[in-house]
Amino acid sequence: MKAITLKAGREKSATRRHPWVFSGAIDKVLGDPSLGDSVEIYSYAGDFLGMGAYSPSSQIRARFWNFEEKRIIDKEFLSKVLDQAIASRHSRGFDVSDKQNAFRLVNAENDGIPGCIIDKYGPYFSIEILSAGAEVFREIIFKLLAEKTGCTGIIERSDSEVRTKEGLPLRKEVAYGNVPTDPVPMNENGIFFDIDLWNGHKTGYYLDQRDARKRIGEIAKGKTVLNCFCYTGGFGLYALKGGAKHVYQVDVSKDALKIARDLVLKNKLPTSEITHTQADVFTYLRQCRDKGLQFDLIVLDPPKFIESKDSLNKGARGYKDINLLAIKLLSPGGRLATFSCSGLMEMSLFQKIIADAAEDAKRSAQIIERFGQPADHPVKTSFPEGQYLKGLLIEVE
Ligand code: SAH
Repeated sequence: MKAITLKAGREKSATRRHPWVFSGAIDKVLGDPSLGDSVEIYSYAGDFLGMGAYSPSSQIRARFWNFEEKRIIDKEFLSKVLDQAIASRHSRGFDVSDKQNAFRLVNAENDGIPGCIIDKYGPYFSIEILSAGAEVFREIIFKLLAEKTGCTGIIERSDSEVRTKEGLPLRKEVAYGNVPTDPVPMNENGIFFDIDLWNGHKTGYYLDQRDARKRIGEIAKGKTVLNCFCYTGGFGLYALKGGAKHVYQVDVSKDALKIARDLVLKNKLPTSEITHTQADVFTYLRQCRDKGLQFDLIVLDPPKFIESKDSLNKGARGYKDINLLAIKLLSPGGRLATFSCSGLMEMSLFQKIIADAAEDAKRSAQIIERFGQPADHPVKTSFPEGQYLKGLLIEVE
């Protein structure tokens, strides 16, 4: 029997159905499990807590597969989990048989496959596996997904550096069927995108900002808009379609900006009303300040500034810095849509940082809307870490 027992008193998070067991909580490891093996997990008193996947070199030493029965984790188990993900998405308006849409089908721990992200882009799936447990079942997951959805192809985008923490190799390859090297077209709320499944960030694109992008399109009419960290231009394209006076798109990535420019044409939007600049946002915002420029609507959607607890302070300073600069650039009555995708930054802290930034900028500001994750990126109530994306829409006097 492969099993782990927890130290006395350390079963509490498991009884609350939190899916992680940290290395410091473990008392004994029995049966010499190897990377990704299924293990039975017991409290110090010997009560069965659930089945988990073992990961010997990770700080998160085990991730729970379930909290109920003692069972073998196999194809049948994963088939049920996938069926549930498909049904839940369907009930939320995301149809897996639609060949045009794009959404997140499996959101890792929150959908019962720890460390596994499955995103749908038209007739393709892009999968990122970040845990040893899901790694063991990757072939089974690909097979089940193909059977259940009739998709054309699956790409595995397990090329994120965090895999090395779990002792896993980096991998980017076709996992099933055919995956084109050409970008895959996608229609998101009437805006057309081309998703590069091979080289796009993460699984190809940032599906999680779909609702926020739509909202920006609704409030951009007649405004001068600055879209910072624009990637392939999402927020800016929505703003332009929504009737913005001019949109400024800024990103450090030349490749992303090339796609952003092409998408203006693809969406038949006026090229004279949009400007693309390759720059570091921190520098760009300072240059705008020095030139005395103003904007009516600014979007700040930076990458994750906080990767671990050690970088919390440094990351928080980064958020403060860009928000302070952006608030200073707002015209009277101007608005800032500001986001953080750092899981370790809680909404309360984020809100405090924005409040401090407004105070330092000597601008009176109100929060008028809040943003979060859309329904295809659910968060289990027992897993607050699943809530990584947060945003505020603020308006200054
Ligand atoms: N808002 C985008 C997603 C942004 S992802 C969307 O809706 O699709 C974050 C982006 O920030 C990436 O494109 C990355 O290239 C860019 N980036 C990271 N650091 C940067 C910096 N210092 N200055 C400018 N862009 C940066």
